Order: sequence, then structure tokens, then C-alpha cells
Amino acid sequence: MDFQDKKIVVLGMGKTGIAAARFLGSRGARVTVTDEKKPELWDAQYGDIAHEKWLEIGAYNAGILNGADMVIPSPGIPPYNEILTAAVARKIHVLSEIELAYRFLQQPVLAVTGTNGKTTTVSLLGEIMAGAGKEVFVGGNIGNPLIEYAGSSQKKDFVVAEISSFQLQWVEKFRPFVSILLNVTCDHVNYHGSFDEYRRVKARIFANQKETDFAILNAEDPAYAAMSSGLKAMVFAFSSAGEVQQGMYLQDDTLIFRMSGESREEYPLDMIKIPGLHNVENVMAAVMAARFCGCSRASIIDSVAGFRGLPHRIEFAGEKKGIRFFDDSKGTNVGSVVRALDTFPEPVILLLGGRDKDGDFDTLKPNLAQKAKKVILFGEARDRIGALIGADVPADKRPTLREAISSAYENAAAGDVILLSPGCASFDEFQNYKERGNFFKEVVRNL
Ligand code: ADP
Repeated sequence: MDFQDKKIVVLGMGKTGIAAARFLGSRGARVTVTDEKKPELWDAQYGDIAHEKWLEIGAYNAGILNGADMVIPSPGIPPYNEILTAAVARKIHVLSEIELAYRFLQQPVLAVTGTNGKTTTVSLLGEIMAGAGKEVFVGGNIGNPLIEYAGSSQKKDFVVAEISSFQLQWVEKFRPFVSILLNVTCDHVNYHGSFDEYRRVKARIFANQKETDFAILNAEDPAYAAMSSGLKAMVFAFSSAGEVQQGMYLQDDTLIFRMSGESREEYPLDMIKIPGLHNVENVMAAVMAARFCGCSRASIIDSVAGFRGLPHRIEFAGEKKGIRFFDDSKGTNVGSVVRALDTFPEPVILLLGGRDKDGDFDTLKPNLAQKAKKVILFGEARDRIGALIGADVPADKRPTLREAISSAYENAAAGDVILLSPGCASFDEFQNYKERGNFFKEVVRNL
């Protein structure tokens, strides 16, 4: 791709937008950047490029598109953003940062998408690959922009990338050697228009794959048959609920990997130290991907056993008077709340709330009836959630997370579990899910 003297607009000045601007500027483009936030609030790395001759700051409106040859949205910009829709209407080329990076990458890409489990799976896969002696760049949504790596000397053997659905909207040639679609449940539907559209965008991760590539899908997804048929890549399924013809499944206390023909391998379930059946699914997807890259079974088992999970994903947050607390602050949609509840054999006191993303909380009713001793609703979304979950399970409402924690603690007895799995974004009270999770842990420590 030739960027010499092209006018390229970069939308969003977080870490990725800044890395994209730098990449383009170093290749001769005239880069115009913009963000809905004021420049003082842009990622600190902006300071490194602020005085470059090729850079200009534009207003955050469609006027910025005048004379533009291309628009690169940051990963967090939804497809219905007004500048993006204006760019599409004006037939200006919109390309996501992963597509841009892909055009310059020299290594095979292992790409992971899905509503939930991306960061966990990407981190685990990175560790398995490293444990097997492979040099890997782990990036994408997880923190290190792919475009930064694409602009470097690229010394690794593989690229493992976490990919969001917003980024998949704007891919053209992006062709991973291994594509993983973990699951598709209701989230971001307000941005994608409809659930079918959201699913269609997620499936774009397979669109450019060829016969020598691998597609890994969840056999329990209701749309599995539709999504897997017609793919060019070799299809491998995973399931925590039943057998699959080709792929990996859980049988009693063993994970069985059915490869081509008669060949199969077994992995012990107890190698997995992170909680919940959903993590068994994440592990199965990562194990297959690692096998396709030549990692040995023995080294995979070692690495999976050494993986202790990530903070704020059903993380043990302490015990007081026999009551155990868990921080699942990253559980920001209904799908992840369901899986968090399933992780505990006993009924829990659930803290649910924050800023609503149009979640389908009514679908939680059976899970709550089975698994929740009590629900404490908090934050901006408490009334809406309360109306949707109905009155079958006892619920309290509290304005803030701090008050919700106190209420949960007052209502708990020794042996109980108090789980923060909010099913909502954090922005009504906090900067992000990490701040919310850390706040929860601190309040618990000081109870
Ligand atoms: P993502 O990067 O897709 O947001 P994370 O690994 O950060 O995924 O996990 C986000 C939330 O989803 C956490 O609450 C976690 O416990 C839950 N989760 C992890 N894996 C899965 C899965 N396979 N299915 C459903 N929920 C999951």
C-alpha cells in the first residue's frame, strides 16, 4: 500500500489510533487525527507525535473527511459512528487497524474473537506458544496494537491477536492462519443493529481463509451449523456439552481431541486451574490452535497447568467470616454473568448493575432462580434490571457499588459466595472495569 501524500484520517486517539497515525506518518501520509475527547485527554503517547510535520488535528465531525483518501477507525469506534457512516456514504475507503497491520505482517496470524473469553484465550494461547519455544507477538485489543508490531522489525514466529467485532467490520483481506470464534451472545447489539448482523460481522474472521487454514468454532452456538458450512478453512469444533466429529470435546474428566481420520489425543481436565466450564471451552480452543502451530501435547499440558487466569475474571477477592468474595468486574454482559453463576455449585449473592448496554436481563431469570440466593442491583441500571428480572428472586437496590457490597455482606452468612458479575459497563461510577474491580477488592479487604 502506498501512503505517500495521501490524506488519511485516524479516528480515536487511544494507544491504537496513535500507533496507526505514527505508522502512516512514517510512510509519507498526511495524517489528520481526531477524537471526541479533548487532546489533553488523549493517550500519553500522543506527546511523541504531537509536533510531527505530517500531523494535523481535525474537528470531530464529518467535515474532517473533506479531501480524505482513507479513514482508519480505532478499535473502540462503533460502525454506526456518524463520521464513519458519512465516510461510507461518501465512498471513502474505511479500513480497520488490523487490516492495515495485516497488509504488512510477515508471520502467520492466530486471531481470536467472540463475545466473551477473548483476552483469557489470547493470553493463554500466548503462554502455551511461548512455553513450546515459539516466539510470539501477543496483541490486538489486549493492549499492544498490531500496527505497532507491523511497523517494527517483526522478529517473531507468530502473531496472536485479540480481535473485536468493530474491527472485523472493516477488514478486506485479513486472513488468519487460525481463526477462533469463541461464542456469540447478546452484546453490542445496539451498535450493530441486530443480533444477526453482530454474528455476521464476527464470522468475517473466517471470510478470507483458505483450505490450508484452520477455523475453530463453538459447536454449542445455535448458529454453528450455519456459520461453519461453506467455510474454506478446515473446520474444528469445540464443545463442553457433547461429542464433535472433528475437534475437541469434554468427556467425563478428559478433553478428547479428534483430529483427522482416526487419530485422537487426550488431555486431562485437571490440567485446567481456572474456574468454570467456559474456561474449559477457552482452553480447548487455545489447545487446538497451539497444536496446529506444532506445539507438543506435553508442553501444552504444562502451560495450561501453569496458567492462573487474569484479574477481574471470577478472581478470588478474599474471605471474611466464612463468606467468600469473587471479582468478575470484566463480566459486562449477560452471557458472562450466566457463565459466572454456573461456575459456583452453591447459590450466590450476586451484585448486578452499572451502566446498561441494553442487556437482555430478562433472559437471566432461570439462571437467577437456580443460582442466586439474592441479587443486589446497583448503579444507573438498577431500576431497568429490576423490572426485567422480575420479583421471583429477592432483590435489593442500592445507588452505588459500595452500598451494594455492604448490603450483600449484611445479608450473607458463613459459607456464602458474594459475586460481583455486573453484566454492565462501569462508566456510571468508574473509569473502567479494572478500577471497578480494584475498588471492589479494596472495599472487601476493609470490611
Ligand atoms: P473478552 O476479552 O472477550 O472480554 P475476557 O477473557 O476478558 O473476555 O472475559 C470477560 C468476561 O467473560 C469475564 O467475566 C469472564 O469470566 C467471562 N468469560 C470468559 N470466557 C468466557 C466464555 N468462553 N464464555 C462466556 N464467558 C466467558
